[in-house]
Amino acid sequence: MADIVVLGAGVGGIPMAYEMQSLAGSEHKITVVNDNPFFQFTPSNPWVGVGWRSKKDVTIDLAPVFKKNGIEFILGSAKKLHADENRLELESGESVSYDYLVIATGPELAFDEIEGLGPKGHTQSVCHVDHAVSANAEWEEFCKNPGPITVGAVQGASCYGPAYEYAMIMDTDLRKRGIRDQVPMTFITAEPYVGHLGLGGVGDTKGMLESEMRDRHIKWITNAKVDKVEEGNMHVTELNNDGSEVKKHEIPFKYSMMLPAFRGISAVTGIEGLDNPRGFIIVDEHQQNPKYKNIFAVGVCIAIAPLEATAVPVGVPKTGYMIESMVTATAHNIKEILDGKEPSHKPTWNAFCLADLGNKGIAFIAKPQNPPRNLNWASQGKWVHYAKIAFEKYFMRKIRIGQSEPFYEKYMMDMIKVRKVK
Ligand SMILES: Cc1cc2nc3c(=O)[nH]c(=O)nc-3n(C[C@H](O)[C@H](O)[C@H](O)COP(=O)(O)OP(=O)(O)OC[C@H]3O[C@@H](n4cnc5c(N)ncnc54)[C@H](O)[C@@H]3O)c2cc1C
Repeated sequence: MADIVVLGAGVGGIPMAYEMQSLAGSEHKITVVNDNPFFQFTPSNPWVGVGWRSKKDVTIDLAPVFKKNGIEFILGSAKKLHADENRLELESGESVSYDYLVIATGPELAFDEIEGLGPKGHTQSVCHVDHAVSANAEWEEFCKNPGPITVGAVQGASCYGPAYEYAMIMDTDLRKRGIRDQVPMTFITAEPYVGHLGLGGVGDTKGMLESEMRDRHIKWITNAKVDKVEEGNMHVTELNNDGSEVKKHEIPFKYSMMLPAFRGISAVTGIEGLDNPRGFIIVDEHQQNPKYKNIFAVGVCIAIAPLEATAVPVGVPKTGYMIESMVTATAHNIKEILDGKEPSHKPTWNAFCLADLGNKGIAFIAKPQNPPRNLNWASQGKWVHYAKIAFEKYFMRKIRIGQSEPFYEKYMMDMIKVRKVK
């Protein structure tokens, strides 16, 4: 019997446990370790920020769900991975041994890299549901006495979709409340152009998002480096594409949400051969670490090189469909190893996203993720807003019932048929 431990019960970790269990069968033991007692559907956090969802709507208690599905669950925070000893040390002092470890911890949020950034500073966040709950409390106060907003993603960020989503969702919410006319909005991003998304753009995301921002009276600054944030004031340096300075800005705000850069969690950082200098786990084409062959990693915690050099550092997003392909490949590869074979499954790492813009949305598919692509498609409309709501319901249901089959691929193929994507 092999002990297979999944560290992290998020968008990658839970499907990983389900798919692994379904492939490995009852002769092997699956254990999930997570530092929170609940699963959060991160993509819904922007809705929590404006009060369209509550924490309860977007979270699921893990203990009963794992119990029902026959997976052991340890509520605990990993303190240090001892990769040479096949052992995970927890903050509680307990150790969890493994034959195979799948790291699925998502990111550590690097707010501390910019003075004044983040919920402990002067900007809000929607990266964690608890941040989004605080962002909502601030939002309600802000709406009583509105003023300027800054929103966006800082240098080194890799997740841009939620920054656009939050900007447009706030815009929609302000219009509903009839106070949009009192709120000048500025979108501040490390991307070289609006709609780059860390992917070099997909289809016409540049045109679509620029047009959307013009339509909604949202100004933007690209190639932007946030130097520091003071209460009510954001200091930003805007660069040319060659890295020279265009201008220094001081932008007043009454409410701000800026996505931070990500890095690997401290429990796995600084292990030679396991992670890169930002603490992201190094994996090969089989999601397997080249040095520690019994360690795999899925999701935001893996190392992926940036697409291209940009004036301000821009990371590559790791999104749900891509993560699902990592999970499926990893589960099959561990199964092959258990059966005495060499791992042979490779993830696709394609990107498929539904970005909600509050009252409509933009969907895109990038196959492969980096250009030039075989499929490079983006489309927009009200249907995307509803597709995203439906998707939230599907995903939460999958987690609750322990559904092991991957479904992004099917969802996307259905959408491709209906939308006649070529
Ligand atoms: C606001 C936001 C919106 C997004 N929207 C979309 C979207 O619409 N579509 C899309 O495709 N992608 C989206 N993404 C990108 C991506 O799909 C999500 O970030 C997704 O949650 C990543 O999954 P993950 O499993 O890698 O990490 P997570 O889902 O973050 O899960 C990591 C888990 O590890 C646990 N953990 C962390 N450290 C420890 C530790 N030391 N010990 C034990 N457990 C630990 C965490 O508590 C968490 O449960 C979004 C990202 C963000 C931030």
